[in-house]
Amino acid sequence: MNEVQKIKRNIRKSKAWDAKRKSERKRAGNKDEITLKPLRKRWALHHEDLDAENYDNLEGDDYLCVNNLTHRCIHWLYTYFKDDESILDRLECELERMKKLNKKDKDFS
Ligand SMILES: [Zn+2]
Repeated sequence: MNEVQKIKRNIRKSKAWDAKRKSERKRAGNKDEITLKPLRKRWALHHEDLDAENYDNLEGDDYLCVNNLTHRCIHWLYTYFKDDESILDRLECELERMKKLNKKDKDFS
């Protein structure tokens, strides 16, 4: 674990972080703000500001409530998106292809 990870871990163990999670969960209506599905037992408070120096600033609104898989997806996608936004176009194209292909199956059922 590097220093930045240690700093973030310690902040996430604080009472202030717990309070922030509670208030953000309430603000989000207990829903994953990307999928709009209910937050599960293990959900993440995603901090949009990735700069470790700002990690303890719990006053802002740079937060998003998401389920763990959504959270992992955001970070995975961001690693590519930050340098190449067209990844979203390719992803949408693939999802549309899948939807179209699998709609056929659904029509037979
Ligand atoms: Zn995050």
